[in-house]
Amino acid sequence: MIHIAIIGSGPAGCYLAEHLLRLIPDAAIDVLERLPVPFGLIRYGVAPDHQSTKAVSRLFDRVLSRDRVSFFGNVEVGRDLRLDELMPLYDAVVLATGAPLDRRLEIPGEDMPGVIGSGAFVGWYNSHPDGRAPAVDEVRSAVIIGNGNVAIDVARILAKHPDELAGSDLSPEIVSWFNAQPIESIHIVGRRGAGDTKFNDRELAELGTLRRARPVISDPANLAGDGAALTTLRGFAEAALRQTPLTINFHFNLTPTAFVDEDNLRAVQFRSTTGQTTELPAQLAVTCIGYETRACCTVEPANGLFANQDGKVNDGLYVVGWAKRGPSGTIPTNRVEAQQVAQKIAQEVTAAGRPGGQGLRHILQERQVGWVDYEGWRRVDAAELARASADHCRQKFSTTAEMLDAAPAGQLRSG
Ligand SMILES: Cc1cc2nc3c(=O)[nH]c(=O)nc-3n(C[C@H](O)[C@H](O)[C@H](O)COP(=O)(O)OP(=O)(O)OC[C@H]3O[C@@H](n4cnc5c(N)ncnc54)[C@H](O)[C@@H]3O)c2cc1C
Repeated sequence: MIHIAIIGSGPAGCYLAEHLLRLIPDAAIDVLERLPVPFGLIRYGVAPDHQSTKAVSRLFDRVLSRDRVSFFGNVEVGRDLRLDELMPLYDAVVLATGAPLDRRLEIPGEDMPGVIGSGAFVGWYNSHPDGRAPAVDEVRSAVIIGNGNVAIDVARILAKHPDELAGSDLSPEIVSWFNAQPIESIHIVGRRGAGDTKFNDRELAELGTLRRARPVISDPANLAGDGAALTTLRGFAEAALRQTPLTINFHFNLTPTAFVDEDNLRAVQFRSTTGQTTELPAQLAVTCIGYETRACCTVEPANGLFANQDGKVNDGLYVVGWAKRGPSGTIPTNRVEAQQVAQKIAQEVTAAGRPGGQGLRHILQERQVGWVDYEGWRRVDAAELARASADHCRQKFSTTAEMLDAAPAGQLRSG
């Protein structure tokens, strides 16, 4: 039997497990996840009002339910056991730990209340247990820095009328927070031109359909060029004027230079390509400029990801997903890449009589680390679905303690 440990249960880890099952008939795969629940950014990143995108978790759930796969939720490598303790137990260990750190702009004022990275903001509104409500109230104007799909997600969630959030899995407290903001303007600001955005056209076009908001292009003369996103932006500029309480303003060719004032955010300063300084008012600024991976014990990332050769970090240690290539691509990108890394593992790794999951269980029991297995996750899932209401397709638990309570005690083994 070949024993493989995958650290992280996001799309990259789950797709990898799926491919390994197919390619290595005698593989036993253990998926370790620091949270009690699986699926990474499918649960905590993908927009709560786009449930059809989250539906891929059903496929991942089936992978975790397979006989040769064991889920170890609530087990963090680096907190509960070290990588150098895990490695001797398995024939291959794979880092599928994602890129959980928000990239920083490194400009003045970035740490003041009201300025938040998109990973932290999106994690919070998706009820991630590490999430904290932004330290602001009375948001009348929000600035979103970045021209990718995460910026569009953040703008849409801020702009939607509460009725348009029906059917999402946003928690009622978070919907109340959004409802309490007297928001009038949202500014989406890109450093480069309108032709350089990374907007997916479908998501961009959705901003033109919102009930209480309309897109406004600050400089329509600069929208020349080809491409679906540019066509949609031109459509926004040419649309008949609709009176709405909220505007979503697109600005291009502006580089952020500072968050001002001293204690609380008042505005974001930008420099234009001609060197002029512009200020946009803001009580909330969300930076959507990418993510970096975090060290896993002694394995340190370089330039935001783990250095690797086609997925191999060193003997017995592999990497997939955002931890391998950085925060790029869509969910299916992880599938294609996981297949390549699975093929590499299948070619290189041989059985060496290692203990695998038996050894892992022994260490966890010795340390009294309670883990959530697949059945435990299913109980958490069922409990969240049972809390659903007419307005919410699921009500997530937002703390680790609540999730551990929902996973039955018999499944949460300790001692
Ligand atoms: C806001 C946002 C919205 C997105 N929306 C879309 C979309 O609509 N459509 C689309 O195609 N793509 C979308 N994506 C991209 C998609 O989510 C990623 O491609 C994908 O999640 C990357 O998968 P991953 O497994 O590498 O990382 P992740 O999904 O981040 O999974 C990593 C997992 O590893 C766990 N972990 C980390 N460290 C440890 C450790 N030390 N021990 C144990 N476990 C650990 C984490 O808890 C996490 O569960 C979005 C991304 C973001 C940020």
